[in-house]
Formats: sequence, C-alpha cells, structure tokens
Amino acid sequence: MAKSSGETKFTLKLVVDEERKKVVFAEACRDFVDVLFSLLTLPMGTIVRLLENHRKSEPVPVGCFSNLYKSVVDMGTDDFETEACKQILLYPRSLRDVQCKRLKLNLHPAEGYKWFSCGSYNCDMCSGFSTSRCRCGKLMNKETPMSGAKVVDYNIQDGVFVRGRSSFIITDDLKVAVRSTDLVLRKLKSVGCGDLRKVSERIVEIGLDEVMTLLECIFSSNASLTDTFLNKQSPKGVMKPCTTPSPYMEKEIEARPEEIITFSAIVRKHDMKILYVECKEDFVDLLFTFLAVPLESVVDISGESSTLVCLGNLFKGFKELSATEVSRSKAVLPHYYKCQKQLLDIITERPQLLFRASDDELLDLIDPKSHGRDQSKKGSGFVKRDARF
Ligand SMILES: [Zn+2]
Ligand SMILES: [Zn+2]
Repeated sequence: MAKSSGETKFTLKLVVDEERKKVVFAEACRDFVDVLFSLLTLPMGTIVRLLENHRKSEPVPVGCFSNLYKSVVDMGTDDFETEACKQILLYPRSLRDVQCKRLKLNLHPAEGYKWFSCGSYNCDMCSGFSTSRCRCGKLMNKETPMSGAKVVDYNIQDGVFVRGRSSFIITDDLKVAVRSTDLVLRKLKSVGCGDLRKVSERIVEIGLDEVMTLLECIFSSNASLTDTFLNKQSPKGVMKPCTTPSPYMEKEIEARPEEIITFSAIVRKHDMKILYVECKEDFVDLLFTFLAVPLESVVDISGESSTLVCLGNLFKGFKELSATEVSRSKAVLPHYYKCQKQLLDIITERPQLLFRASDDELLDLIDPKSHGRDQSKKGSGFVKRDARF
C-alpha cells in the first residue's frame, strides 16, 4: 500500500509476555479505539476489496463474501438492470460514511455525495449516479448542487464512536475496555504474568498498513495483536473458507407473499449438501445486498454463532463503549439498496429530502436501479428481471 508522507501514525504501548512471545494487551488512546471500531462499520464488499488490494497475491478470504464479490465483478454490466447497479454493489456505501470522516485514520475515506440531474428545470429529478436516465429520457450527468445533504460536524469534541478522554486496554483477542490499574493487574495475573519481570513494554507505531493487517487478523487470527506486531502478518491459510458468519436464513420469516423467495436446490444425496440452487433474480438480489451490509450487522444478525473470537470480542466492546446506539439489530442501508423482496433484518433508510440549491425546489431522488420512467415505490432489483441463475 502506498504511503503518503503525511500519514497519521498512532503510538501503541504493548505489554509483551517475552517468554511466550505474545502480546498480553495494548494501551491505546480513544482515537485509536475509534479507528479499530470503524472496521466494524465497513460494508462486507468494502472489506473484501480492501483485503484484496492489500495482499494482491493471496488475499485473506472473508468467507463466502469473497465469492459473492467475485461473482459481481465477473458479471457483465448487461446482466444488471442499470450501469449503476454493479457500481453500487462493488463500491457499497454505508450510512456511517459521514461519521467516519472524523476518524484520525480512515481505511476507506468515502467521497462526498454528488448529485446529478438531466439539467432541465422541468424534470425535478435527481440521482446519486451520473449514469441514471431521467424521466425525460436524457442522461442525468449534470452535477447539481443540493441543500439538505448531511454534512460532517468537525466541532464535536467527543470521539467518533467512543465518548470521553480515557485511555483503553485492548487484549490480544481484541477485548476493549477502559483502562484501570485494577484491570491491568488482573489481565497480567490471568496470563500468569503477575511477576512483572516476565513482561516488557514495547512502543509501536501503527499506521494504515498495520490497521490493514489488523483487519486481516479479525478474519484469520485469535491473537490479533501478536500477529500484527510481533509476527508482522496475519496467519495465512489457517482459516477455513466460510467460517465467517454469514447472514443465514434460519429465522422464521413471516410469510407475507412479497417476502417469499422460492428456489430449487440441487442436493447431493449422501451428505445432504446443497450443490447449487436454481433461482430467480429475487434471490440473487438478496445475496448481492449482503455485500452492502456492514460487518457490525453481520455479527449482530448471526449472533453467537460466530467462530471468530476477535471479531466477536471487538463487537462486544463496540456495543459497550459506543456513545451512539449500535445494536438496532437491523442493518440499515442507504435507500438505493431497497429491493422488492427484503428478508432478514436488512432494511433501508428513507431517501433524504433534497432541494436544488439554485431554486430550493424539492427534487425526486430516483432509484438508480431503475430507469427514469418506471420508478417503483417498492424498489427494484440489481440484476435483470426474468432471468435464472
Ligand atoms: Zn429530465
Ligand atoms: Zn425500464
């Protein structure tokens, strides 16, 4: 990863068990804990992309999400309803993007929202994508300034996620807690290091590269700090594919007709494994939407079933220390991820009200998945209708 000269670096104090060559815990400031928590707010598709860019030869797989992402990459633009669909899935946006702009170190700085229209004052339509078609048939490629869009408040003194000015303890398996002398002593005792001669303190610098390695470790290690700072890499090949919690459908779903998705599964008889399913576009839309779901919601939806210790611990800390409400136990996505059939606890926000800056006219924000004329209130899908997969 290219390093800019002005890159932010955090200083972390590691307490290391020298005999076993393991990090017992790290002491960190609030700003670093915010960066650590921000990893949980990344959409799954973004995580797959970041990890692939970080280690091009051998990226750490993020369970089934990596396969899902690759499927979208490999599909032609023609297979999708509109050009914007593929982009929406490959570069998912999160409702926390604005919040994350205040991070001291941001793995994935999102561009500001831009709004486009066809340029005609008669149409009153706008889109977040320059490839959408207006109801008049023209391409909506004229950037149009809007008022009413969300802005970042840099005057907030509190942390992005964590309140107050305390310092924190982060254990090797990524439990995060407010630092206290009592806690430090207990942690040392719990690993048999009550005798302080066995431990040493190391000061390490942490920048983008180290945070990327930490992100890899969340999916591949049970000793993230040791692997990141002492071994300098994530344990490759340790992880079996598909141990990542996937938003699976075991919850009972109220059987309203619009929420039923049917597909036929081809099952191998001797072990009852599903080899593949034949399905219609609604099921593919649902699967692809998973790429936009932030990691925090994936952990939340899949509950205790996660086999990834660090990920589970990090999420617990996030819930406990976060100033803003974390667990709505629903994944809230930007409005344009709305599809006709939505399952699980994935919901979309209401589109925000946007006013054209030049004349304060309220504009209709269109669904970039559909064409100008056929806007449906129920939302449309990503992939072309009446296809089978
Ligand atoms: Zn128009
Ligand atoms: Zn159409």
